[in-house]
Amino acid sequence: MKLRLVGLSCLLVSGGVWAQQAKLDATIDQQLPSLVSIYKGIHGAPELSHHEEKTSALLAQELRSLGFEVTEHVGKYPNADWKGYGVVAVMKNGAGPTVLVRADMDALPVEEKTGLAYASQVRAKDDAGQDVGVMHACGHDIHVTALIGTARTLAAMKNDWHGTLVLIGQPAEERIDGAHAMLADGLYTRFPKPDFALALHDSGELEAGKIGYLAGYMLASATSVDVTIRGRGGHGAYPHTTKDPIVMAAEYILAIQTIVSREDSPLDPAVVTVGSIHGGTKHNLIPDEVHLQLSVRAYKEEVRQRILASLDRIAKGIAVAGGVPEDRAPIVKVSDTEVTAATYNDPALTARVVGAMKTSLGADNLVQLEPVMGSEDFGQFGLEDHKIPTFMFRVGAIDAERIAQSKETGVPLPSLHSSLFWPVPEPTIRTGVKAMTVAVLELMKK
Ligand SMILES: [Zn+2]
Ligand SMILES: [Zn+2]
Repeated sequence: MKLRLVGLSCLLVSGGVWAQQAKLDATIDQQLPSLVSIYKGIHGAPELSHHEEKTSALLAQELRSLGFEVTEHVGKYPNADWKGYGVVAVMKNGAGPTVLVRADMDALPVEEKTGLAYASQVRAKDDAGQDVGVMHACGHDIHVTALIGTARTLAAMKNDWHGTLVLIGQPAEERIDGAHAMLADGLYTRFPKPDFALALHDSGELEAGKIGYLAGYMLASATSVDVTIRGRGGHGAYPHTTKDPIVMAAEYILAIQTIVSREDSPLDPAVVTVGSIHGGTKHNLIPDEVHLQLSVRAYKEEVRQRILASLDRIAKGIAVAGGVPEDRAPIVKVSDTEVTAATYNDPALTARVVGAMKTSLGADNLVQLEPVMGSEDFGQFGLEDHKIPTFMFRVGAIDAERIAQSKETGVPLPSLHSSLFWPVPEPTIRTGVKAMTVAVLELMKK
């Protein structure tokens, strides 16, 4: 008798799940043409980081029309010239958990060369005043569209979930200061603080229809560091009367290679890259100083801190070895704006959401990924020590045919940020909306 009862309740539950799946698919299918047209509109009108004026207004209007309580212009930057274009949309639906879903909205200074009918023709002035082409080369237009689709689906299925839903349009992801700007403007004090935070990002490698995931560290922290090696300039024919910063910069670049190879545990991934070196003006002239621009990547915060301390110590040591007077000591400046935390997928949250996605999308469509040392500022929403569980997943954006062709010819597919990158709209948006909706329903189900 007991067994029969259990069997019956299982049947009822799976029947309920099946009905919910059918409702979910129907709701998404119904709005897909409109979402694709919204996507093409955003794709054709990209806006640079810190300038997401029209994109944020469109998102705000869409969410408001669905009954969300919407606040615009959320975001405070240290640079007073930049406006915060963050959007926060809240829907309260009884007692229950608070879930945040984030979409980033900014485009890149890239001239689009895809040749698509809906390609961007937009040009704009960048922050340095230079005229640049602007393109959604990272697919943030897919993210905004998927957020609108998720909002529509969840608004239509309000009886299936409870709690507080917080949807945000985040500016300036590509400059990794947008998440910070929203938090600095009271995202977690003026609005409900989430129990979980979710985000998706399109993938230039994964097939459309598939979702990529991994638990734990997914993307590294990134920190920009500016180093000025100072010496004493003079005539190139009389090096003994100078303190040559070019030679010291060369020594420095080689010496800092040992930070990763000798000081860091081989089990803690880290990268130190010198991306720029500038010094001097002429063949026979020893300059006063040389400027270096570095990028530091790591997963763990203590590893990042150790690398930054080593960069400082080694610079000072080389100056001492070169006999540079103390008042010309090197300057190692860690940026306080170009810095972002690692993206860490909470293992329990990942397992829970991926389990629901497997049921809804089919286990074959969930692909486990390897972590990489690229960066994102979504991790900021988890706060220090990953206090708030976060999960970011990747949405396949390339049709199977193009992937097969690339394998056959050996010509790699255009990566994200390439002027030739283009996601295939309909299946990518459909899967993005479905996966995110399923994730939210799992966390907020009745
Ligand atoms: Zn990007
Ligand atoms: Zn991106």
